[in-house]
Amino acid sequence: MSNTLGWGNLKYTMNTYMAAQPDGRICLFGAPFDSTASFRPGSRFGPNAIREASYGLETFSPALNSDLEDCSFMDKGDLELPFGDPSPALTLIEELTGEILSHGKTPFLLGGEHLVSLGTISAVKKKFPDLLVIHLDAHADLRDDYLGMKLSHATVMRRVMDLLGPEGILQIGVRSCTKQEHEIAVKLQSIPEQIALGAGIRPCYLTCDLDILDPSVLPGTGTPEPGGLMFHELITILISLISRLHIVGLDVVELAPQLDASGISAVTAAKVVRECLIALGRKNAVHTP
Ligand code: MN
Ligand code: MN
Repeated sequence: MSNTLGWGNLKYTMNTYMAAQPDGRICLFGAPFDSTASFRPGSRFGPNAIREASYGLETFSPALNSDLEDCSFMDKGDLELPFGDPSPALTLIEELTGEILSHGKTPFLLGGEHLVSLGTISAVKKKFPDLLVIHLDAHADLRDDYLGMKLSHATVMRRVMDLLGPEGILQIGVRSCTKQEHEIAVKLQSIPEQIALGAGIRPCYLTCDLDILDPSVLPGTGTPEPGGLMFHELITILISLISRLHIVGLDVVELAPQLDASGISAVTAAKVVRECLIALGRKNAVHTP
């Protein structure tokens, strides 16, 4: 399916995610960027691997009893991003996200390394100043700098904290961090009452680093960390969050498909994306006549 709206600096992509419509209320787009990957690069190939793997799945979700074909969503393809210095790439991601929001659509970013989320979150925060970011990840990503770099996949949530303050982030699944990060992270993880009390009405952005999954479930990622979630555990959390919260943007990042020759990681990531799309689309349909 071709791109029908000429926003942003977009590459032509042969594939879209399965069942994508020419126009829709949720707008997928890819940010194929992995320049700050510290261990194993390759997440630049994530967005298209997710699209390709989606065609091996059904459009119907038994867990949600809903079909992707009933979900109003489009796929804008990938941004064409410069490599090296991440600043220009983040600017392009922020600009496209702003355009998506200005059309009244919900941005759904496919990474790329986790730093790309900063561009999207920056734009979403401009429209929703009271934003709460729900951060699902094996890693805290709270370093102030990494090897001297302020903009890195390892610092992305620290930069988000600069934007939103510590009350603007809720972390789930973190099992790897430095001692310094841990001191901040325990505070960000010890406020689940935020979900119960405030998050129901507060606009929320969901950022899902796929390494929250156990490496036995998803080995194809840049920084695998043993001891993670099983697939159904992650899906249960995501469906619960999307069903209960006011989601105004989301992303799925850090699939590095070439690190898993079996292809299972790409299929797993594609299924995470499908369940998020259906859960969000179903909710949109319920709440809007
Ligand atoms: Mn991360
Ligand atoms: Mn991570």
